[in-house]
Amino acid sequence: MMDKNAEKVWNNCLKIIKDIVEWQHYKTWFEPIKPVSLKSNVLVIQVPSQFFYEYLEEHYVNLLAKTLKRELGKNARLEYRIMVDSGDGKNKPVTMDVSAQGFKTFPANEMDFPLIISTPVKNPFVIPGLKKMHIDPQLNPTYTFENFVEGECNRVARRAGKTVAEKPGVSSFNPLVVYGGVGLGKTHLAQAIGNEVKRLHPNKLVLYVSSEKFINQFMDHSRNNAINDFIHFYQLIDVLILDDVQFFAKAEKSQEAFFAIFNHLHQSQKQLVLTSDKPPKDLEGVQERLLSRFRWGLSADLQAPEYETRIEILERKMKKDGLELPKEVVKYIAYNINNNVRELEGALISLLAQSSLNKKQIDLDLAKKVLRNFIRSSSKEITIETIQKMVCEYFQVPYDKLLQKTRKREIVQARQITMYLAKNFTKNSLKTIGEHFGGRDHTTVIHSCQTVKDLMDTDGNFRESVLELQQKIQLASM
Ligand code: ADP
Ligand code: MG
Repeated sequence: MMDKNAEKVWNNCLKIIKDIVEWQHYKTWFEPIKPVSLKSNVLVIQVPSQFFYEYLEEHYVNLLAKTLKRELGKNARLEYRIMVDSGDGKNKPVTMDVSAQGFKTFPANEMDFPLIISTPVKNPFVIPGLKKMHIDPQLNPTYTFENFVEGECNRVARRAGKTVAEKPGVSSFNPLVVYGGVGLGKTHLAQAIGNEVKRLHPNKLVLYVSSEKFINQFMDHSRNNAINDFIHFYQLIDVLILDDVQFFAKAEKSQEAFFAIFNHLHQSQKQLVLTSDKPPKDLEGVQERLLSRFRWGLSADLQAPEYETRIEILERKMKKDGLELPKEVVKYIAYNINNNVRELEGALISLLAQSSLNKKQIDLDLAKKVLRNFIRSSSKEITIETIQKMVCEYFQVPYDKLLQKTRKREIVQARQITMYLAKNFTKNSLKTIGEHFGGRDHTTVIHSCQTVKDLMDTDGNFRESVLELQQKIQLASM
């Protein structure tokens, strides 16, 4: 048998296996196998993961034994080389060799063909059998690219999402990690990718799942000793979208399952799309080997939308709902709700509700009334406006002067201090802060902050005032 090389033997085995195993299963479980070596009667094959090996052992070892014994005689043996880590530029791949257990006990008299193999894979969405068309992608058709307004705040993420949807698994954005604060559109964008893939590539298996759901499914399966089924179900997906991966922080076992799934999908050029509420590097409690894989692709962030984008989002929503609002009301909402798209929509909805409840026209007065409640109930965070008012009161400066271009020294100083405080006490971008001062740009804000810092170092009275104001703001935000 020494003269038969591994590849030839393995190809002969595959010829038989191909005829017996259903095409999809053959593709999943046999195509990724690579013959490594053949020494006397031992064939070594390489498999992509530990789970892969376990699955083969559990479901196909008889078939492997029969075919291999036909090639190499009844003393044929099989060994697996398991890819523990496929390595990257710096690190070499790590592998582990194990021998196939099933071979030793396999009775010789069962070596006759034909073989009938049936291996239904149970999947966690409780769909019997594994026919492609029966996997529900869990997509909400209302989340599309079309109604995901593009702005400076999301341009990179949105474009990368489009690329991924056009060429899933092929671009270098794999995985695509979209991160950003709550209500900034992560789920919307992730779902839009899924919907777009379905539109452009109807045959691709797409699955959207929240990490919470993934973890719960995993726990169910591990209680029932069905972890392999769980993992293998996920390994069949072409485009896997996993929302809010920060939930993995407290789920160590689930991380391991996801690691196996990730490796398999990535290796088979399947697309992964992940979202997170913080940048991957800040995901505490997530294993480093997983984080390092997140860095293989592209991480793109979603920022709070800038003023123009907020206006555009509001106008689109209104149009969709057949709604008309005075321009000044739209501006007022966009101006005051500035760090969360969900709240922007919420404000619009409560405004509508109020107006229909009281049969009142929606005008600026109503908007102010409703928004006051809305802002108060939705966040304890200090706003730019609050800071502006406090500074005005403190320095006895009229509010409107603060926003105008007055160059009077005391007003300029009050304005600079307000910008400085807004920078330190709110999460607003420099750009947004500038907007709140009659549309100044971010360089003005930077300059102001620097001036205040310099003056605090050189002018004792000035310093006292700023510190006192800081204290007031701190109290107000508690
Ligand atoms: P996240 O998942 O980041 O918490 P969501 O995706 O749930 O946020 O978005 C919150 C709401 O804001 C959704 O209704 C979504 O449609 C809307 N939204 C977010 N970003 C945009 C955008 N750029 N254009 C239009 N709607 C948006
Ligand atoms: Mg979300």
